[in-house]
Amino acid sequence: MIRKIFLFVFCFLAVMTGIKAQKEASKVSVVYFCSEITPKNILKLYEAMGVDVSNYKNIGLKVHFGERGNQNFLNPELLHPLVDKVHPTFVETNVLYVSDRRFTKSHIALAKEHGFTFAPIDILDADNEIIYPGDANFEFCKTVRTGDHFENYDFYIIYSHFKGHGSSGFGGAIKNVGMGMASPGGKMAIHANNYPKVNTPDKCFQCNRCANQCPAVAISVDSHGPVIDTTKCIGCAKCIAECPLKLFSPDNSGYDETRFLRKLVEYTKVLEDKRPMVFINVMANISTTCDCSAKAPKPFMRDIGAVASKDIVAIDQACQDLTSKAYGCEHVFQKVNHVSGIEQLKYAEKLGMGSTKYILIDVATGQRITLEEAVKQTEKKEEKQEQK
Ligand code: SF4
Ligand code: SF4
Repeated sequence: MIRKIFLFVFCFLAVMTGIKAQKEASKVSVVYFCSEITPKNILKLYEAMGVDVSNYKNIGLKVHFGERGNQNFLNPELLHPLVDKVHPTFVETNVLYVSDRRFTKSHIALAKEHGFTFAPIDILDADNEIIYPGDANFEFCKTVRTGDHFENYDFYIIYSHFKGHGSSGFGGAIKNVGMGMASPGGKMAIHANNYPKVNTPDKCFQCNRCANQCPAVAISVDSHGPVIDTTKCIGCAKCIAECPLKLFSPDNSGYDETRFLRKLVEYTKVLEDKRPMVFINVMANISTTCDCSAKAPKPFMRDIGAVASKDIVAIDQACQDLTSKAYGCEHVFQKVNHVSGIEQLKYAEKLGMGSTKYILIDVATGQRITLEEAVKQTEKKEEKQEQK
């Protein structure tokens, strides 16, 4: 009898261990890699994911057009073969701060100046915002705000420049969705407070433009300048764009690194749940700051290559690992930006958005490669370039 019980317990444990191992194995995602960043290889990476887009009518290709003066944004020509194949629309959202990219017309004009001329361009918040509820288990975001054109697309290819960012450590696919697809009001909510602040109100010449344009009638203007009633403000960020003297700006007084990163992830989760998405990240022109910088610092490390995955967590994790390995440390962006950005990956995995475990497949051979082998390829590429 005792022997039978022992046998039963042994078999039960063996089966449970097997199931657990299977579950663990199923959490490992695939990330496709190439060290040569060419238009052909960007298409190859996309094709490696085996996506069938035949049933999708409108495909959005989320890009970043680059701020005026920025020298690090990705060369749009890299996308030409992919665009020829899937006929997407370049999609973006207006930014929060005042620049050409704050207003739809000048944003599109700048995009064309920067070479994004071979597909239609759509600024998702050109007309209105759409506000989705946050998930019940979110720590911060009760709502998520994007442009109402977001719903016009039934499939998204998220094409991201992987590089540093002062607040998020690094910016990859998660940031390109969470922040990059948020409306200006959404961007303000992610950064810190849901309402703006007034700087140097005494400069106000009482044109009343801000008050007239405020949809919540939250601004009153008198001889001391504008005052925002934060109990009425709905955080649309319109006043930031409207004031000719730029007297309004986001109020980041309550900024907290972890909160910022988690909000970013919560925005991404809601948008990713609404539409199917696949991801391509390019690790080139890797600067400490993002492509919204008009004067970005020069790249601080060599180009690494490009990756593609259906898993938004795995792709950013792979980029973080590849760049860190190539830089010779554990967290390259912790070193250069004093923010590791790892919190994005941990929280996204906790929310079930993907896996930090992945395998790398070299698209040139179709074979699995290690992180070390991938980095070795980038070293060889650099040596070749130096010899030329
Ligand atoms: S953010 Fe929008 S709602 Fe709030 S004060 Fe400015 S214009 Fe009004
Ligand atoms: S738009 Fe600017 S200058 Fe005009 S009333 Fe408002 S704060 Fe003053």
